[in-house]
Amino acid sequence: MLVVKDRKALTAEAVAFARSHGAKMVGIASAENLKGCLPGHHPTDWLPGARSVVMCLIPIPRSTLKSPHFWPYQYADKLNHEQLEMLGHEVALFLEEKGHYAISHFGGPFDITEPHPKYKRATGVASWIALPQVAVAAGLGEIGRSRLLITKEYGLLGRLVGIITTADLVANEPFADPAVDPPLTGGKICQGETECGKCAKACASGALRMTRDQEWMDACIRNGATKESLGGFLRQVRKIMEAPTQETRLGLLFSPDTYRKYMHLFWNVDTWCNECIKACPIGAPEGKTA
Ligand code: SF4
Ligand code: SF4
Repeated sequence: MLVVKDRKALTAEAVAFARSHGAKMVGIASAENLKGCLPGHHPTDWLPGARSVVMCLIPIPRSTLKSPHFWPYQYADKLNHEQLEMLGHEVALFLEEKGHYAISHFGGPFDITEPHPKYKRATGVASWIALPQVAVAAGLGEIGRSRLLITKEYGLLGRLVGIITTADLVANEPFADPAVDPPLTGGKICQGETECGKCAKACASGALRMTRDQEWMDACIRNGATKESLGGFLRQVRKIMEAPTQETRLGLLFSPDTYRKYMHLFWNVDTWCNECIKACPIGAPEGKTA
């Protein structure tokens, strides 16, 4: 393993590089200090010898929440994914050029692989490592009542990429202890259920009232799917299949409605809605002082 001669300088260079490639927030988590990860979800499970994780955040523009239509958010979400994927790729290459191994992992901002044994987490999780918890460990924010990463600057709109690297970088102070950070109460940023609870009230599916991961994710996905994306497209396919005559089937198949649902599917990367995100007051310009 390459020894970093000047850890501080390399860390500053990596952070500046990530920022110059679009990251709005950057934090470093020490792999060694990430305790309580679920089996198979520690950075060293993905890159042997990993010492650090460079966590980068880019938000989805808040303005998209102001539109009465879902598309602007959906479209920005798609672009945000692409931006993060490229950012992570670039940072990984940067670290490689400096003589360290580095792999980039893009994933959701939701609290799905909580690295705490008291929670019964679903297996087959979407993320290699629990990006929100690693972001907490890297000092970016905390897990909100909404079960999403919440930051002071961007509320629930921050999206993440983590670059797992063998480079021994200088880690940030964790924002909270990610192993005990309670996702259902308030914290330093999230105002919690009693004070606020707007995210849970806005959630029509009741997902945020569920305590088990799998139930929460299922309810959340089902609710999103009732709107557009894959669920909407599949319902259209069913409608076509169940049409009584060949003529009606063909009419539906080549209708603007099928085209529209396909376009929703094409542009969409997620299946969930955004009502909890919209409801959260944190990071909104109304709450900021000039
Ligand atoms: S994305 Fe929608 S369904 Fe999922 S938790 Fe938020 S408000 Fe509820
Ligand atoms: S809406 Fe309120 S309770 Fe929910 S995450 Fe935001 S601050 Fe926390």
